[in-house]
Amino acid sequence: MKELPIIQLKRGKEESLLRFHPWVFSGAIARVPDNVEEGDLVKVVSSTGETIGVGHYQIGSIAVRVLVFGADRLPEDYFSRRLAEAWRMRQTLGLMREDNNCMRLVHGEGDFMPGLVVDIYGSTAVMQAHSPGMHFCRNEIASALSELPGIRSVYYKSDTTLPYKANLDPVNAYLLGSYDGSVAMENGLLFNIDWLRGQKTGFFIDQRDNRALLERYAKGREVLNMFCYTGGFSVYAMRGQAKRVDSVDSSAKAIALTDANIALNFADDPRHRSFATDAFKFLGEMEKGAYDLIILDPPAFAKHRGALKNGLLGYRKLNAKAFEKIRPGGILFTFSCSQVVSRDMFRMAVFTAAAQSGRKVRILHQLTQPADHPVNIYHPEGEYLKGLVLYVE
Ligand code: SAH
Repeated sequence: MKELPIIQLKRGKEESLLRFHPWVFSGAIARVPDNVEEGDLVKVVSSTGETIGVGHYQIGSIAVRVLVFGADRLPEDYFSRRLAEAWRMRQTLGLMREDNNCMRLVHGEGDFMPGLVVDIYGSTAVMQAHSPGMHFCRNEIASALSELPGIRSVYYKSDTTLPYKANLDPVNAYLLGSYDGSVAMENGLLFNIDWLRGQKTGFFIDQRDNRALLERYAKGREVLNMFCYTGGFSVYAMRGQAKRVDSVDSSAKAIALTDANIALNFADDPRHRSFATDAFKFLGEMEKGAYDLIILDPPAFAKHRGALKNGLLGYRKLNAKAFEKIRPGGILFTFSCSQVVSRDMFRMAVFTAAAQSGRKVRILHQLTQPADHPVNIYHPEGEYLKGLVLYVE
């Protein structure tokens, strides 16, 4: 087998890698050999030439994502072994059962497969590559996925995740099998999931546990689900016997998905209404005290470091509106899914918003992502979802 191209690090830049952090930043590299192309497997060595590991090379600030440490080449069965491990860990979580058939199977670095995301919906695996290296391995990954119990088709969706500068041909297609018309079930609730046209893999599985918590608070409440997308929180609130549930999203497509999911579970239950409108506009115009349970689950306001300041301002403004309007005795579920916004920063933004409103606010729960979105302990950046459940007097 041919030797891999060697990426040598600058002196003193090995430290995070020796602690198994899987990213090599471009500034840490002493020299990139001429024969390396984006997406290639490379061997990373220290400044003195000792082997660190093997990873995928990429042009950008993160230059190598390390797949295995302490090896000179990628084991031939790397994907089948890692996927089998990912599956085994999920079995411990008990997520594939009679009343639940969707889960995240691969959470990138969290499953020691940097650059790869796989969500399972029934017998379909929906796969996204975030790095050119994973893109080139897509067929090998699909075939390893098909060896897992119950997986009959693999849909690859890379148009929104591949770095656009890499100039790759994004592929959105079934690599194996075809659409089988299956409906996803989460905790006994049904969801039409459109991985062909929807955002990400079609559903935000990462809010599963938080939706279940919301259900416990919903009884008798008037619920406002902001940024509802597929209506996940709304469907749980309905089952939790909310008095009324209003879903808001600026996208008409998202509202159609929400309506369809409500209908799938509750037919034409008049407790639910939906509004295709801007969240800030809706909050600005709504009557004070109209709702006593509000969910704020916006898209990432800060998608990269450069957007941090404005992102935090966005979270503050959004939450300030909710504090201003929520009925006394109300409960606010508020989230941030921006990876660059830390837990502390988010909490500070919400704190500032609360202080502005002058209301008495208590933290009931501090939420995060569920166990099928594990955080690699050596890669704290993998902890991206932050949430607070607040009681507002
Ligand atoms: N809460 C959802 C996920 C939200 S994704 C769930 O549990 O699945 C973010 C959603 O916010 C998207 O559907 C997007 O259409 C919507 N959105 C983005 N900007 C918005 C705005 N200014 N007002 C209302 N909705 C917005």
